[in-house]
Amino acid sequence: MQLFPGAEVLELPMQGFGGTSVVYPVLLMGEEGATLVDTGFPGQGDALEAALRAIGHSVSDLDRVILTHQDIDHIGNLPAIAAGRTTVLAHRLEAPYIEGRERLLKFNPERMQRMLEHMPEAAQAQFKALMSNLPKAQVDVLLEDGEELPLYGGIRVIHTPGHTPGHISLYFPRHRTLISGDAMRVVNGQLEGPGPEVTPDMPTAMASLAKLPQDVDYVLSYHGGLFGPGAAKRIQEIIG
Ligand SMILES: [Zn+2]
Repeated sequence: MQLFPGAEVLELPMQGFGGTSVVYPVLLMGEEGATLVDTGFPGQGDALEAALRAIGHSVSDLDRVILTHQDIDHIGNLPAIAAGRTTVLAHRLEAPYIEGRERLLKFNPERMQRMLEHMPEAAQAQFKALMSNLPKAQVDVLLEDGEELPLYGGIRVIHTPGHTPGHISLYFPRHRTLISGDAMRVVNGQLEGPGPEVTPDMPTAMASLAKLPQDVDYVLSYHGGLFGPGAAKRIQEIIG
């Protein structure tokens, strides 16, 4: 699905850890090369490659990866990508986690134990293998709130903490389109705030929504897909 000219939404389905989920990375294309926004879960590498090949690209020809944040479903295929010449961009506060210098925040032992208890046995083995080999890669470019990246007609970096401390959303003013990462969700076609069960700091996450541009028309959420037109009005309703 095209998000806007030069931006293709990839659809990566996954069966695992006791459920099915679809996530939506984005490939940006142009004279500036190919840039992937978020990379899918570990184990979605083949699906990612197939989705890229369907639009004439490959994991091996990516120039950049922009990560909205450190969570496993966003950095899952980073090691394979970053093994090449790809430049990795993320917010300054997420870098220690993405680089493996700090333990990924959602991977605290208590939460992991709870998750394991709710998994079928086959999934448990898969999960434990993942735990002992979490994805990581060097972050080459540290991003800051309000920064304008001179790529694809302009990308505004908006620091939207709450879901994680260094979570960012990406705004494309020319297309009035926001890639929200996990700062927002789309549930049954409706735009919603972040998921409370996976957002440790909900007050901060809700305050982040107030920072979003007033003229945003479309929001692409990583979990749930596209909402719009009329996103700005809906965001106002959510903020209340
Ligand atoms: Zn996520």
